[in-house]
Amino acid sequence: MKFIDLSRQYEQIKNEIDENIKRVLNNADFIMGQDVLTLEKELAEYVGVKHCISCANGTDAMTLVLMAWGIKEKDAVFVPTFTFFSTAEVVSLCGATPIFVDIDPRTFNIDVNKLEETIKHVIEENKLIPKAIIPVDLFGQSANYPKIMEIAKKYNLKVLSDSAQGFGGSINGKMNGSFGDVATTSFFPAKPLGCYGDGGAIFTNDDELAGILKSLRVHGKGETKYDNIRIGMNSRLDTIQAAILLPKLKIFKDFELIKRNEIASKYNELLEDVVTTPKILDGYISSWAQYSILLKSEEERNKVKDSLKEKGIPSMVYYEIPLHLQTAYKNNFKRYTDLSVSEDICKRILSLPMHPYLTDEEIAYIANAVKEVL
Ligand SMILES: *Cc1c(COP(=O)(O)O)cnc(C)c1O
Repeated sequence: MKFIDLSRQYEQIKNEIDENIKRVLNNADFIMGQDVLTLEKELAEYVGVKHCISCANGTDAMTLVLMAWGIKEKDAVFVPTFTFFSTAEVVSLCGATPIFVDIDPRTFNIDVNKLEETIKHVIEENKLIPKAIIPVDLFGQSANYPKIMEIAKKYNLKVLSDSAQGFGGSINGKMNGSFGDVATTSFFPAKPLGCYGDGGAIFTNDDELAGILKSLRVHGKGETKYDNIRIGMNSRLDTIQAAILLPKLKIFKDFELIKRNEIASKYNELLEDVVTTPKILDGYISSWAQYSILLKSEEERNKVKDSLKEKGIPSMVYYEIPLHLQTAYKNNFKRYTDLSVSEDICKRILSLPMHPYLTDEEIAYIANAVKEVL
């Protein structure tokens, strides 16, 4: 059994994918070909924003936004500490300071009360200039945007939504990717919508920002590629990856997102009596980038993980170490507020296999294996 089975997905759409790749090879329009433009249009429509700017990966997508905003040394950017490394890394890359904030133990997303408390501390200290918040749609569920946007307005902060895992999720019908001033996603193969390599995209309704981002992804181009009006990056989505993503987006919309939610419901039913199953808030729909359960202790978590492995079931720990305790940060960050929820959850969390092609038998086998240990 695989943790995420990409081969089963490929079997479904092999003909379309093979034909699309062949078409790109025949046309030889490898860089910014027609498929890239078509994909950007379809993605913007699905997410419900004016502009989609594709790029080389989800990390670059965030870096491009911070560059466009001019985030620099002495700026403070608030990020959850329970997330993938990129969320803070991009802030440090710009020379600014990531300020780590704890998470809500039920949703695993940034704790909005601690967020406001942390912002107040940074303002009081008067050393760094608070500039932006990067909420993460962890495991596919939207962050608490209604509250986050209120806080952002109150303290005059920009919001970059890191929706690398959130593509397809929504709050009351409003899609992930449409929250904040701008949002980014990743097409890394294991994400809800993945390509066959690296890829990413930026979503915004802001015309001016979209123009700057399109320039930044091609070396800060002006009228042409050889007219450079600002310092940028080389960060484009390959035409081949766009050609792969087009049929994948179609099945994602047609049934994969629904299947992911059905599978999560089945897991919930089978497991809710023995472990803490993931909590999705009212009105929220997750894209289930991960299905993550909480055990009672680190010892119990490791016991379940080992026992699953013996039965041929892969599981993963997202995340073993909160960002503030990563070697790159642990000796040079300031703890403004309590981060103990994230530290605790890193010890007790476990993600089970999750992809749209899991069978009922597999789900039952996995759930039984968890139950047997407990
Ligand atoms: C995967 C991921 C990223 C980075 O995406 P890449 O395409 O791998 O650069 C950023 N943030 C989160 C939360 C992610 O899960």
